[in-house]
Amino acid sequence: MRAEREGCVTRDEAMFPLCGLPMNPLYEQMKTSVFERMSGLATKHGAVNLGQGFPDFGWPPEILEAAAKAVVEGSNQYAPSRGTMPLREAVAAHYNRHFGQQLTAEQLCVTSGATEALGSAILAAVQPGDEVIILTPAYDSYAPMIRRAGATPVEVALQPPEWRLDREALEAAVSAKTRAMIFNNPHNPAGRLYGPDELEIIAGLAREHDLIVISDEVWEHIVLDGRRFTPLATLPGMEERTIKIGSAGKIFSLTGWKVGWMVAAPALATLVSRAHQFLTFSTAPNLQAAVAFGLNEGDAWLQPMRDRFQRSRDLMAEGLRSAGYVTLDVGATYFMCVDLAASAIFSSTLGS
Ligand code: PMP
Repeated sequence: MRAEREGCVTRDEAMFPLCGLPMNPLYEQMKTSVFERMSGLATKHGAVNLGQGFPDFGWPPEILEAAAKAVVEGSNQYAPSRGTMPLREAVAAHYNRHFGQQLTAEQLCVTSGATEALGSAILAAVQPGDEVIILTPAYDSYAPMIRRAGATPVEVALQPPEWRLDREALEAAVSAKTRAMIFNNPHNPAGRLYGPDELEIIAGLAREHDLIVISDEVWEHIVLDGRRFTPLATLPGMEERTIKIGSAGKIFSLTGWKVGWMVAAPALATLVSRAHQFLTFSTAPNLQAAVAFGLNEGDAWLQPMRDRFQRSRDLMAEGLRSAGYVTLDVGATYFMCVDLAASAIFSSTLGS
């Protein structure tokens, strides 16, 4: 395949083969991420890009100004590896205010996006030979990072249209080798917010089988129709075994900044920070300053953001419905699934 079809690479891979050296088979067999391919194709064809999860409207101008000021007036040198103290304190205070937690800066590690926090958490928690349960469909970094850590991803399929958690299916996936579970709430791409009853299924399994839960909560603030998000770590017995993953990119619609973090009990947080220090070491200090400003001053921005996404969801669902597509309910995130079979897409494409 010509490399340029995969995204922004423009030279032909066939001109430069891999010198016959054995490389890591994980990467030799891996395809370029579907998000990179979709966005590359959308740019190439001037198409509306509905393939990758980023908004093209609605970020707060005050936070951009804070970033610009921090570039000119603040530090442009390596930040402390675990993140600047003002940002770590701002993230802790943000969760304490919004979700009634009692976090401290010692529980925080700032990373270059949630993707790096996920990678660090997996590398720190998992040993070669372990199994890690993931709920599919799943964000595409989970399985490759689990494999890269020498462990095996064990998939439990969520079933549309409701994508409910099934305790028996999860229980059946647990073995003597299971070390951790990756749970994503609200869920990409189902657009589902799991409430306390289903969180208890995850928590119950984790407590019973002594598992770590990597809880990917990057969509925590994009909850629609007045719903309320509950962090997994607030359930009984979960604070000490949860590694929570967050992202300023989602909270402020600034996905390109790639500022994320993980939150865990202090000793666990230190362990994850050791994995992080040899992935990226640290994250741009000026963006950290702007995100700290946004978290401290930007609460009033969150509800209008949710309202905007809710209106966009309604418009999109209505447009798709009037064009003959059957859409599944979306209670959170900015993803929407079309029921292909019910929309008669499977039968027509398979038949042609
Ligand atoms: N987890 C989930 C579930 C996501 O949807 C995304 C981004 N789409 C990420 C992690 C990655 O976030 P970041 O851009 O901060 O790395």
